[in-house]
Amino acid sequence: MGNYYQQDIETMAPEGLRAIQSERLLKQVRHAYDNVAYYREMMDKKGVSPDDIKSLDDLHKLPFLTKADLREAYPYGLLAKPLSECVRIQSTSGTTGKRVVVFYTAHDVDIWEQCCARAIMAVGGTKEDVVQVCYGYGLFTGGAGLHGGSHKVGSLTLPMSSGNTERQIQFMQDLGSTIICCTPSYAAYIGETLKEMGISPDDIQLKAGIFGAEPWTEEMRRDVEKSLGLKAYDIYGLTEMCGPGVAFECEAQGGMHINEDYFIPEIIDPDTGEVLPEGAKGELVFTTLDKEAFPLLRYRTRDICVLHREKCACGRTLIKMAKPMGRSDDMLIIRGVNVFPSQIETVLLEQGYTPNYRIEVDRAGNNDTLDIYVELTSEQFSDTVRAIEQKEKQLAAAMKTMLGINPKMHLVPPKSIARSEGKAVRVVDKRKLHD
Ligand code: ADP
Ligand code: ZN
Repeated sequence: MGNYYQQDIETMAPEGLRAIQSERLLKQVRHAYDNVAYYREMMDKKGVSPDDIKSLDDLHKLPFLTKADLREAYPYGLLAKPLSECVRIQSTSGTTGKRVVVFYTAHDVDIWEQCCARAIMAVGGTKEDVVQVCYGYGLFTGGAGLHGGSHKVGSLTLPMSSGNTERQIQFMQDLGSTIICCTPSYAAYIGETLKEMGISPDDIQLKAGIFGAEPWTEEMRRDVEKSLGLKAYDIYGLTEMCGPGVAFECEAQGGMHINEDYFIPEIIDPDTGEVLPEGAKGELVFTTLDKEAFPLLRYRTRDICVLHREKCACGRTLIKMAKPMGRSDDMLIIRGVNVFPSQIETVLLEQGYTPNYRIEVDRAGNNDTLDIYVELTSEQFSDTVRAIEQKEKQLAAAMKTMLGINPKMHLVPPKSIARSEGKAVRVVDKRKLHD
């Protein structure tokens, strides 16, 4: 039998879940409308009142909310509870612009931590485990979320935060960490450091990793599983909803179950706003169902993704989302062609390179240029100059096949590309500087 934190919810029949969602949706909409002027205005403008929302089927009547709305409402404009009822603030990483702050009541923190506890138990976590949390602590939600979840499971929690990689490894060994939580790019860096320190994955006790907060590929998953000797699981979330734990992967490692009792997902066409059927690729939209301080209705995440409901080997009935392939605003349009950084990562790892790379886009005259810098290992670097040039050509050809355009490849010496301890910054779009 599976390992669940809240088995009744996680394995509930779809009709039961829909009933919970409908019931909570009505309350959440009423709460937002009654307590947030911003919502009242938006809904009045669209001619929809809380009375028009009678069940899940009426969700589409509500207006969308965007990140621009959140920035405009900064800091208190969307707050639905008096500040005296709030106990916590967290903030987005600001990956794509000004940070957004969100507020939590004690109840909001509790449901967020429940979501993270479900994620930990889904990878086999129990109170016997030692959970090393090396997501950043602070305003960023990564550390706080998994930390709270680990407490709820009853695991021994190591609040390491990110950075100081050798110390991470020391504690991992001394205290026998069995589950590690961090960004996939930091996991790769820890794996690399382990090797440099001459420690084999067999010398540590990690069995599972919960990696998220940024896009990563299946190739990266295999890479990290090998270098750390564990099973790597995805976790998804965004500060606006709560933080990590909106969706989590189970032992099937085939997409993330969304905590549908707290968040309703939809996929829309990002250009028209039309709701797309299950299985279609589009922008992920979420509606919170049980948030007190910061209810968000139909929030457009800008993450590009696919939803599918299927019978899962783990016994969970919660709908699954595929690995987001990146945000709509991560997508680069180069010479008119859509390029996702994750496609580049796939090619690199398939061809036996490290996940240490940087993508630079610029403009020369009227032409876009794409330069990809890839770090070589010391073994790869010991090749002759000619052999390295040859490899650059091969790699450019493989990229051309994947992307449809020809990049300029640069194979660079070991350690010349900065490592990431949190969310990796791999793309530099210099065209923006000229605009
Ligand atoms: P910011 O939007 O400033 O980065 P957050 O720290 O709240 O702020 O990050 C949330 C975003 O991180 C998501 O909208 C998504 O783009 C990305 N993300 C989180 N988890 C994953 C994941 N498992 N796979 C891909 N992207 C993810
Ligand atoms: Zn499952």
